[in-house]
Amino acid sequence: MNIFVTGGAGYVGSHCVYGLCDGGHHVLVYDNLSVGHREAVDPRATLIVGDLADVDLLERTLAGGDFEAVMHFAASAEVAESVQRPLFYYRNNVANTLSLLEVMSKHGIKKLVFSSSCATYGMPPAVPITEDMPQTPINPYGRTKLAIEWLLRDSAAAWGLGATALRYFNAAGAAPDGRIGEDHDPESHLIPRVLKVALGQSDQIKIFGIDYPTADGSCVRDYVHVADLSNVHGIAIETQPVGQFRCYNVGTGQGVSVKELVEVAREVTGHEIPASPSPRREGDPPELYADPTFICTELGWQPEYTDIRRVLETAWQWHRTHPRGYSS
Ligand code: UDP
Repeated sequence: MNIFVTGGAGYVGSHCVYGLCDGGHHVLVYDNLSVGHREAVDPRATLIVGDLADVDLLERTLAGGDFEAVMHFAASAEVAESVQRPLFYYRNNVANTLSLLEVMSKHGIKKLVFSSSCATYGMPPAVPITEDMPQTPINPYGRTKLAIEWLLRDSAAAWGLGATALRYFNAAGAAPDGRIGEDHDPESHLIPRVLKVALGQSDQIKIFGIDYPTADGSCVRDYVHVADLSNVHGIAIETQPVGQFRCYNVGTGQGVSVKELVEVAREVTGHEIPASPSPRREGDPPELYADPTFICTELGWQPEYTDIRRVLETAWQWHRTHPRGYSS
């Protein structure tokens, strides 16, 4: 299949592009490299450095490619930044997706897989989270992802778009063969921050909140490995019917607390990793983990990395060998 991939130089996108190329698909990556890395793009794929806001370039690229499907990863994805810059987030995430859909509809491209988020649930009424729980996001980032889900639903009904929204929980880990990994600047995510302490690049990890109503007082998350995300994107695109909107939670079903994660990271790295309690980070729900039953049943997907130790081992392999990320 000829597949157009926005944001294919980013963290999740780049792992999925490798998966698509391994699966024999022809991939064109469209990425403005604002947060992505040229080095992360599979050499078997074609890279066009472009912005979704550049509708002329988008139009020309989609017109010339005979694409059957689109995978749409390109987005701004920092919750705290979205609170500071909501208009930028709505422009970059929602308006640019609107442009993408307009060009797709013009060229009759009717299959899309979209990176949605568990952030669309906000503070869920219970865990594990099922797809039918109310979507009441608590920050602009989550609201942009939910708005896009509605764009996709309405497009499915109106012009036959077939779209799957994959609501990721916490993407984690690195390619098991060490080819690519996680490299954000600045880095806000827990796992790379913990591993930077192990590398001696920072002194300690701050645990944001130890007074949550969870078993050990720290926040609980569901860390889903990028290799498993890559697999599920392949399945989603290959099974996508036109004219239908589908949405799935993509997580392992295992909740891991911040304290537990730091402890396992100490064992995996052999480093002490000092940790200190810090105030809660605004807007952090205490406990988020998926009920992945629906996607496992409907798409036949099974996450391979259900043990946080194995997730951390792949992440550590990447960070140890790329202490300065892609510029190492
Ligand atoms: N976290 C933390 N210290 C850090 C970074 C993150 O305690 O330096 C916590 C954060 O409060 C959350 C969990 O780790 O409960 C995962 O945070 P991350 O930013 O990786 O992902 P998020 O769940 O916000 O998407």
